[in-house]
Amino acid sequence: MQDKVSNLSGIGPKKELALKALGIETIEDLLCYYPFRYEDMATKEVSELADGQKAVIQGVVATAPVVVRFGRAKNRLNFKLLAGHDVIQITFFGQAYLKDRVQPGSDVAVYGKYDTARQSMTGMKLFSNGGSQEDIAGVYRASKKIKAQMIKQLVKKAYEEYQDVVEEIVPESTRRKFRLLNRKKMIHDMHFPKTTQEFEIARRSAIFDEFFKYEARLALLKKLDRNDAGLLIKYDNSMLKRFISALPFELTNAQKRVVNEICRDMHRPLHMNRLLQGDVGSGKTVIAAIAMYAAVTAGFQAALMAPTEILAQQHAKKLSDLFQDFGVSVCLLTGTEASKTKVKHDILERLANKEIDILVGTHALIQDPVIFKKLGLVVTDEQHRFGVNQRKALREKGENPDVLAMTATPIPRTLAITTYGEMDVSVINELPKGRKPIRTSWVKQNQMNATLDFVERQLKDGSQAYVVSPLIEESEAVDLKNAQEVFEKLEKRYAPYYKVGLLHGRMKSDEKDEIMKDFKEGKYDILVSTTVVEVGVDVPNATVMVILDADRFGLAQLHQLRGRVGRGSKASYCILCADPKTDYGKERMQTMVETTDGFVISQKDLELRGPGEVLGSRQSGLPDFRIGDPVANFNTLQAAMEEARAIILDENFEYRAENAGLIRYLRAVVLAGANFD
Ligand code: ADP
Ligand code: MG
Repeated sequence: MQDKVSNLSGIGPKKELALKALGIETIEDLLCYYPFRYEDMATKEVSELADGQKAVIQGVVATAPVVVRFGRAKNRLNFKLLAGHDVIQITFFGQAYLKDRVQPGSDVAVYGKYDTARQSMTGMKLFSNGGSQEDIAGVYRASKKIKAQMIKQLVKKAYEEYQDVVEEIVPESTRRKFRLLNRKKMIHDMHFPKTTQEFEIARRSAIFDEFFKYEARLALLKKLDRNDAGLLIKYDNSMLKRFISALPFELTNAQKRVVNEICRDMHRPLHMNRLLQGDVGSGKTVIAAIAMYAAVTAGFQAALMAPTEILAQQHAKKLSDLFQDFGVSVCLLTGTEASKTKVKHDILERLANKEIDILVGTHALIQDPVIFKKLGLVVTDEQHRFGVNQRKALREKGENPDVLAMTATPIPRTLAITTYGEMDVSVINELPKGRKPIRTSWVKQNQMNATLDFVERQLKDGSQAYVVSPLIEESEAVDLKNAQEVFEKLEKRYAPYYKVGLLHGRMKSDEKDEIMKDFKEGKYDILVSTTVVEVGVDVPNATVMVILDADRFGLAQLHQLRGRVGRGSKASYCILCADPKTDYGKERMQTMVETTDGFVISQKDLELRGPGEVLGSRQSGLPDFRIGDPVANFNTLQAAMEEARAIILDENFEYRAENAGLIRYLRAVVLAGANFD
């Protein structure tokens, strides 16, 4: 089942690539690439058909077929079909080649869309001799490079050749407990069901199968982590306490709890793999600082990985400030430094000599040429989740450092536990005291003047404002033009009393940094920006966030943007300018007005968009389930997780005969030849 699809005859390099783009690399993948819908191909009586229904009707061709050509290379094939007592006008578009098969007197069946008023059908498929072979036909999601029909043929071929080696993955006792089909029948009935009922039964098993495979991998990672001799980071408690009490604020209760959870993990000789979840502004960065400081007091180095240069710079700056009086050396390594050979060389040398305690940077800093003397902790900010291979690479750096992954993506907790199952989860569910809730309002575009007056009153009070320009399309050029227009308009409006700055994605990172720095230092009162401001930039004096054409943004993005204000002690405002045309757009605006709770928003986002969109997106690092829906089928997901954990964490896991298939599967997909104990 783990054979490459190219083992099937007829799959060359081109098809292989096209399949890979659909996530199909092995026979297992192909056989689990299920139809996304099914067509009812059972022959129907004309009298049963509703207007617009797609169905198969059968009859005798009553008139000679006529082909009409039109446009450039377009054609239409017409004939009349006598179906029972009804004469139906049939039209096929672009399939003139069917003409020979529909000569008067031929027995045919046509699958198509029925039009009651005209007593006609637009044909989609033609069958000779008694209609379709299958009453239910699966339809596969295809791509430009590979057609649904081709996928269907490949699935058929793969099933024919491999049906005898389909092995059970879900152990028998679990299958019995949840009344699941055996795997061969499940795969068969998903692709080639004879009745609707058949695929509905198979579907239950297939959803469980998909979740179980995923949860089993996570459970295995967890087991490996558990058995892995991790680092014992014997931090200096009194130094840590001194550091915490020197912070300019007191930690919230949630922060204290999380610090304890992390410290407890680090102090154990086990490998830490912990996810730190907290809404924007909940104070994750300082937690990272505390954890890294703990590692440093134990004689280790730490690394902080950020998704963008601007964020890495901000973190580096913040950490340098925090550690100023604590003798911790912080260094920044991003593409900018790495491009200067001498600078890079110098950094790497100091790192290897342990003259650098904390290295902050982008992804590059855990890559090849970067060698730490004694790396104890890796903190990742925003959605870096180490995949299996990266985890292996980290481990093989000889250190197996502890990992703390921070995310502001507020996934509902239950969902986080099941989908980030190999990690332990810590949640900061409380904002620092004294934060005034951000007041959000939704205005129409024609209320722009009133909005700008409002902004002006805030500026008069010495506050600053962000104005996010419309995101028209994925094109940076167009976004830039919009940002520039907004910038000019505002400059005109506020000159000479207030200064306006412009920040956009086309700028070089040092330019961006310069503008951000100037804004932070109050050289600008207003910052017009494309969404680059979204990432965790911290300017506590900014109290207004105006988002133009807000309905073009997703809920998660709006929430992130809004999180840029409300970071100081002054009351803050978020103004959404939008005239949404759809209910979905209106509902999004309404949600933003009603709540500032990231968890509520993400729940709403899930409901409105579906988990495929919200969780499947690569950036969240969550898997793309194909048929299981982690929200709608949450109970199944949970059951699959509990079963997978119980089975794999069991100490006799390897010795139970019924687990043989599962073990072989895990060996193949997780770690070639790994020992489980
Ligand atoms: P996050 O990364 O979770 O979005 P940050 O760590 O950037 O949040 O914190 C947001 C702001 O709140 C920062 O200015 C930080 O200094 C401040 N902050 C963090 N913890 C506290 C606290 N317990 N009390 C007051 N302010 C805090
Ligand atoms: Mg942050």
